[in-house]
Amino acid sequence: MHEVSIMSGVVDAILCEMKKYEIVKVEEVVLVVGDLTFLGHEQLRFAFEVLTKGTLLEGSELKIEREEVRAACLSCNFEGKVEYVEDESFHSSVPILLCPSCGGKVDIVEGGTCRVVSVKVVEK
Ligand SMILES: [Zn+2]
Repeated sequence: MHEVSIMSGVVDAILCEMKKYEIVKVEEVVLVVGDLTFLGHEQLRFAFEVLTKGTLLEGSELKIEREEVRAACLSCNFEGKVEYVEDESFHSSVPILLCPSCGGKVDIVEGGTCRVVSVKVVEK
């Protein structure tokens, strides 16, 4: 499961950062997940729960914020949200990586990464 290895890296990074402070417990972790990562939110939650057992992060709440894909066109001046198609087989919407304005190639500006944006902790 792709989500487990991603979440394992996230949990390790947070725990490593936490070592620098005197932390009693972690209350909340906010994770931004871009649509282009194709990570399942439920699988991420499950992985988080399993991976944090016995650590400072155990019992903390994982908040997942979805980030839509934004792109910049290489041909025209368009920059903004791309269009999505409903994918029946995946029961989800899939971003189309073409310029909605002219159909040209685009650079991805947002939505391609998964990152921790905040961690709420209780200090000693
Ligand atoms: Zn364009």
